[in-house]
Amino acid sequence: MGRIYECPNGCGRKYKNRRSIWTHLKYECRRDKQTCPNRCGKTYMHKGSLKFHLRYECGKEPQFQCYVCEKKFTQRGSLKSHLGVVHKIIST
Ligand SMILES: [Zn+2]
Ligand SMILES: [Zn+2]
Ligand SMILES: [Zn+2]
Repeated sequence: MGRIYECPNGCGRKYKNRRSIWTHLKYECRRDKQTCPNRCGKTYMHKGSLKFHLRYECGKEPQFQCYVCEKKFTQRGSLKSHLGVVHKIIST
């Protein structure tokens, strides 16, 4: 009771019993990498990430542009961290 089983592959999943983690390891975690069907070369560990990539990144024009150096990004988060790391601008 109270014991939590964490995925040994470091994927961050936690389960309350051994059977669940077995199922996870067998059917989810050890799956082959999800490769982008558009052949852009991206691979993902989880289907959800690939879905996200296909929906928001793959083949999409970068929508977020740095107003300092004009570099473009596909994700708002990437631009944000770019501003912080490269230009030392922390936006909220
Ligand atoms: Zn896992
Ligand atoms: Zn892609
Ligand atoms: Zn910039």
